Amino acid sequence: MPPTGRLAPTPSGHLHLGNALAFGAAWLSVRAEGGRLLLRVEDLDAGRARQDVAEAQRQDLRWLGLHWDHEVAPQSTRRYPLDGIPVFRCVCTRATRHMLGCHCRVKEHDKGAWRFDTPRGPVEFVDRACGPQTFAPDEDPILVRADGEAAYPLAVVLDDHRDGVTEVVRGGDLLQATATQVKLYDVLGWTAPSWLHVPILVGEDGKKLSKSHGSTELRALRAAGWSAGRVWEVLGPLLGVAGLDPAGFDAHKVARGTFRVRDDGSVQAAPTQPGSG
Ligand SMILES: [Zn+2]
Repeated sequence: MPPTGRLAPTPSGHLHLGNALAFGAAWLSVRAEGGRLLLRVEDLDAGRARQDVAEAQRQDLRWLGLHWDHEVAPQSTRRYPLDGIPVFRCVCTRATRHMLGCHCRVKEHDKGAWRFDTPRGPVEFVDRACGPQTFAPDEDPILVRADGEAAYPLAVVLDDHRDGVTEVVRGGDLLQATATQVKLYDVLGWTAPSWLHVPILVGEDGKKLSKSHGSTELRALRAAGWSAGRVWEVLGPLLGVAGLDPAGFDAHKVARGTFRVRDDGSVQAAPTQPGSG
């Protein structure tokens, strides 16, 4: 069966080179196998998601040459039931949970956030780029906030299952969070997708690329005269390809580690340590 992948941008900020790297890998991986690519707008966070940003992101993706086959319903229109998932309600604040520990599991509160009653034990999975991984899942992560809004670990698992996604390709900062998602697939009795995590890109300040690194946004690079071809000249080596060509894509050739992006958009060739200044 050809794979089904997805591009899942969060419309709270414009796309930067780090997003382009992850979406480029998702595109290459699916196109190399003749699969199907979905676009899903991850606008769960109603306070930060903006429709105009979602549209600008679609334009950036088209400019990059990352065309998708079908756009599925955005997260803001979906429901995220907890059916089949062991959960308990938790009334702790972050601070009290940290200092005193959470004993909500045995208290049966009738309010508060819903936490995953995570089955104990480490999780093993294989990352297509990074190889075999073993992590302990996050301790009982929140699946539904006290205000009723679904949290990312729940939404992404339910959505990927409902959308028929068979391969997840995304930034390396989510590698460890995969353990919780694998446990959710297990308790739901679903087959987990395959995983591929791409290198993390950091700015000159050593911090993960974000809105604060405006000069690495695609719209800024475009305004500075960059073509999409130049973006792929810069990012291609991290993905083991010369340009955006699926013919030569091999997940084993995707670089590992953290790479620094300079303010002019160039990328340091050797991996760097995360957070090092
Ligand atoms: Zn608690």
